[in-house]
Amino acid sequence: MEHRARKRFGQNFLTDPNIIRKIVDAIAPRDGDTVVEIGPGLGALTEPLLARLPRLHVVEIDRDLIARLKTAHPPEQLVIHEGDALAFDFSTLGAGLKVVGNLPYNISTPLLFHLAAFAEQVREMTFMLQKEVVMRMVAEPGSHDYGRLSVMLQYRFSMLRLFDVPPGAFRPAPKVTSAIVRMVPKPTEALTARDPDLLGAIVTAAFGQRRKTLRNTLKGLLPEAEIEAVGIDPGLRGEKLTLDQFVALANRAASLPRA
Ligand code: SAM
Repeated sequence: MEHRARKRFGQNFLTDPNIIRKIVDAIAPRDGDTVVEIGPGLGALTEPLLARLPRLHVVEIDRDLIARLKTAHPPEQLVIHEGDALAFDFSTLGAGLKVVGNLPYNISTPLLFHLAAFAEQVREMTFMLQKEVVMRMVAEPGSHDYGRLSVMLQYRFSMLRLFDVPPGAFRPAPKVTSAIVRMVPKPTEALTARDPDLLGAIVTAAFGQRRKTLRNTLKGLLPEAEIEAVGIDPGLRGEKLTLDQFVALANRAASLPRA
């Protein structure tokens, strides 16, 4: 029976064999890798991944699709984790994970933040996302796309946009162009924020009102004199600051006596 794509689960199924091959080549699965695919759907990536791996983990929310996958593959080859990827504890799969998937676009930002919490268990992630989101992930300071998503993910991962995928590669075709991004966790030595929650609070505040200067957006977190003390002009807007400058602000805030 044909599966009717469910909008609420962000279902756009890949059908273009060349694109599928390119994505699987980019993932480059090797025997011995622990690979987990988020949202296997009708198996466009699952099947070629299973052709190269003895075992694959998948996380899928749609019960109809889970039933199909179960009939097509024995459980010792395809380990199906039924449920919401946003609530899935990826640490249960061990370390050195390769996480992959053509992600449901309607939950991409919360899913990326959820996955960032497991960065220590991850070796590499390769995802298809809306191109617009990928552009924000890899954006540089001063560019229109640069924002909270860029800074918070760039703090934890080195990221590379690999290639774009046109709407015609899917059924049903989405309205937007997609892109493949690779995310590699940075080594622990690179994670120099003393209090990552404080870094998150500063970045959120700095981009909360994009038109306002740091002097205003950081009020309550860091006095103007403290912004100057780390060599940053309080008259700048958050969109001009580099990742290192955000970390310097967060570490200055962490060094202040708590009110
Ligand atoms: N991998 C398939 C492909 O490329 O054709 C399907 C990709 S489709 C864009 C997204 C997949 O994620 C669907 O199978 C959908 O049911 C699943 N999905 C949606 N929300 C999910 C969630 N919260 N947790 C796990 N899977 C989810």
